[in-house]
Parts: sequence; C-alpha cells; structure tokens
Amino acid sequence: MDVYNPANNQKIGEVREFTEEEVASTIERLGTGFPGWSARRPASRGMVLYKAAEMMRADLDRLASILTSEQGKPLAEARNEIVGAAAVFEYYASIAGTVGGNTVPKSDYGYAFTSKSPLGVCGAIIPWNMPALIMAWKVGPALATGNAIAVKPAETTPLTNIEMAKTLFAAGLPEDVLAIVTGNGETAGAAIAGNRDIRHLSFTGSVDTGEKISKMVDAGRVRLTLELGGSDPMIVCADADLDRAVAGAVAGRFYNCGQICTAVKRLFVADSVADVFTERLKAATERLRVGDGAAEGTDLGPLNSIKGLQRIEEMVDDCVGSAKILTGARRPEGPGNFYSPTLITDLEPDSRLLTEEVFGPVLPIVRFGDLDEAVEMANSTRFGLGASIWTNDMRNASKAIEGVRSGILWVNRHSRIPPEVPFGGVAGSGIGRENGPNSLDGYLVEKTVIISP
Ligand code: NAD
Repeated sequence: MDVYNPANNQKIGEVREFTEEEVASTIERLGTGFPGWSARRPASRGMVLYKAAEMMRADLDRLASILTSEQGKPLAEARNEIVGAAAVFEYYASIAGTVGGNTVPKSDYGYAFTSKSPLGVCGAIIPWNMPALIMAWKVGPALATGNAIAVKPAETTPLTNIEMAKTLFAAGLPEDVLAIVTGNGETAGAAIAGNRDIRHLSFTGSVDTGEKISKMVDAGRVRLTLELGGSDPMIVCADADLDRAVAGAVAGRFYNCGQICTAVKRLFVADSVADVFTERLKAATERLRVGDGAAEGTDLGPLNSIKGLQRIEEMVDDCVGSAKILTGARRPEGPGNFYSPTLITDLEPDSRLLTEEVFGPVLPIVRFGDLDEAVEMANSTRFGLGASIWTNDMRNASKAIEGVRSGILWVNRHSRIPPEVPFGGVAGSGIGRENGPNSLDGYLVEKTVIISP
C-alpha cells in the first residue's frame, strides 16, 4: 500500500497489505509470545516501556518529521504528540506494578481474595488523526499488564506506528509480543475484529466503523472498547475571561487542522458577549497560517485525506445560503488537501455542521440566551464525548457538570487529555474508558479464590 504526504499528495512510502490469513497467523504468533511476557515481573515490563519512551524522546525530531510527512500536522504538533505518546508509556510503566486483587472480609464461607491476570492477545484498531498517541493509549496498558497486542494502523498513517514498534523492540520488547498489521480496514481491520483468539479489542475511529465492528466481534469472548467520534460543544458564558476563551476556541478547533475527536466542534456564546467574542475570534482565526506542516511557522497543515477535505467542503456548501460565513471556506490554490480556517454563524438548527461530526477546520457559532438553552443545544446531537464551559461562576460550571451529556467536561479549557485521567465517551461516542489507573482492568481478568475454613 502506498503512503502519501497530504501536503502535496506525493508518495512517501509503501507498507505491506496484510491479508486476512496473515492477520490470523500473526495473532497466532503473538499467542506464543504471550506466556513469556506475562510471566515477567511487572517492573521488568515497565522498564521496557520506560526505555522506549526515553528513546522516543531522544529520537523526537526524526519521529515528528515522519508523523508530519504522513499525517500533515505542523512539526510542533507532531513533536507534542510524540512526547505525549512517550508520556503515556511512562505513565503505564509507573503503574505496571500496582496491579493487585481484593481481599474480602472473612465470613462463614471462609477467606476470599481475587487475583488479576492478563488476558492473552489483544487487538487495537486506530485512526490517522493522532496515530502515535492513540497507539500508546492501547499498547501501553496492554503491555504493562503482560498482554500481547496486534495493532492495525490507519491506511494513511502506518509509518509512525511502525517506527514506534521498532523503538519498543529496540527497548527490549520481545518481537512476538507486538505486531503492526498494516492494511485496509475492510480486510486487515475486519480480520482483527472478527478473530476469535483476540481477548480485548480497542477501537478508535468513526461511529460508522464502530457500529460495524461491534457486529463483528464475538461478544461472548472479546471485550470491546469503542472510542468513537464526537461533536464537542464549547459554551462561553457572559462572565468568562473572553481572551482566554478565544485562545481556547482557536486551539480547540484548529489544532491538528480540526481533526481531533475532542475538538471544539460547536461553539455556543452568550448573547450579551457574542459580538465582541466573535470579532476577537475572527481576528485570531485570520492570523493562522495555513501551509505544509514541515515548513517553519505553519499553524494549520492540510487535512489528512482528499476524502476528508471533500466532506468538509460539502458540509460547508450545504449550509451556504442560509448561513453567514465570517471567514474562510476556501480551498487555497495548489496541491495538497488544504482548507482555510472557517467560522460560520446563523445556521439552521438542523444544519449538518451542527448535527454531524465536523472533522476539519470549520467552526459553527451559535448564540444563546440563558444557560439552560445552551445546555439543551449542547445535548442535541447523538454524541457525548467531550464538552467545555468557560465561566468564572461556579453555578454556571455546576449546571454544565450536571447537565451536559459527555464523557469528559472541562471548565475553562478544552481538549487536554492527560494519561492519568479516564477518557471515553457516552451515548453515540462509545463504550469503555482509556487512560487512568482503571484502564489496566480492561486488560486483566479477575479470578476469585475462596478458601474454606
Ligand atoms: P475510521 O473509522 O474510518 O477508521 C479507523 C480505523 O478503523 C482505521 O484503522 C481503519 O482502517 C479501520 N477500519 C475501517 N473500516 C473497518 C472495518 N470495516 N473493520 C475494521 N476496521 C476498519 O475513522 P478515521 O476516519 O480513521 O478517524 C476519525 C474518527 O475517529 C473520527 O470520528 C474521530 O472523532 C474518531 N476519533 C475518536 C477518538 C476517541 O478517543 N474517542 C480519538 C480519535 C479519533
């Protein structure tokens, strides 16, 4: 399979396209590596993750430039992502030895305790928007707890994942404990999802693919984690620090060219500050420099695929007429999947920009009268991933904490996901949680032991 640079659509590499049979035999091979790895002391497994993180940090420039070349993001963002992935490995290294069981108070049946063991071979299917970070979210806990894992990268961004695997091997990971199975979703991805020897499948991607995958897995044998799309609302109250909120909206929407699951996808602004807020936001948006992610000073790279670019264009075109475009909505001349950062107001409530996931640099802005109205609009999609409220009044924050349907809610920031805290969606945005100490349990099975007196 060919890999392209989305900044110019030139070919930059080739990877193997795994067939279904090759995926099955790879999973079988991982099954032979599992016993040795799971028998190691947790600290020894943790050391491999620590070492890999150290090597990734030392190799930062090279890894970031590979990531930029296949994904499109600016080099500074690529560096952040590689460092973020290394931090995830360090986090799981630091908690590898904390897995314990429970003791149950003595009763008439005797003593009872539980012990936790790794599951076996796990699977991970990941998207292209944050390939390094999302691979680390899955590989980190799987390896720390003693499992083996097969990773299926997205079609457009396999190179960074291959480099991360090489780094893990160079750090001491046995080669039969991790495999990168490159290929198409419909073949290699489906072959992992339908494999009966996988014990846990963690999928990150779109809602549509998530739905297909949940039908493919054998629910009686495979644990399933689904990290799906979102349409995160950002609510700006009248009392908010507006400059801080403007900066939050710009970063929240346009980082990674708007291709983040928890990007700010709908902006709700209190009526009384909407004019001044929008004016400042427009000025900040127009300062963003669009260009090749590898070039100095670029704020926004290209979209990752032509398909993604066309979808964004279609969504914007659909609302032209009724809505008002404040800035952007242009495809710059020349090669590459570029789209100018776009702000749109006066949308119909059923506009696709407000009801579907907008996975690109386009931000719809909606005014609200009172906060209840904003919360109601925030909850009006099928999603429930992230959300934020910008306010200095605890009563407003409490209303959002209680009322907004989401797996994660930020107050006065948006989209930071540290490895120490649980992350995942509700409603149409998925099931299960990644990150945080409890994520280890997803990769462990608990056995109860009862000792009769
Ligand atoms: P996608 O669903 O098209 O693809 C994701 C992965 O699934 C890829 O590796 C792809 O090859 C594979 N795939 C596709 N069809 C398959 C099939 N039939 N069987 C098995 N695997 C298959 O998603 P995408 O476009 O790569 O990613 C963007 C989406 O991911 C957005 O919706 C975004 O919100 C979501 N996302 C969610 C999170 C989260 O943590 N909740 C994080 C990042 C991205």
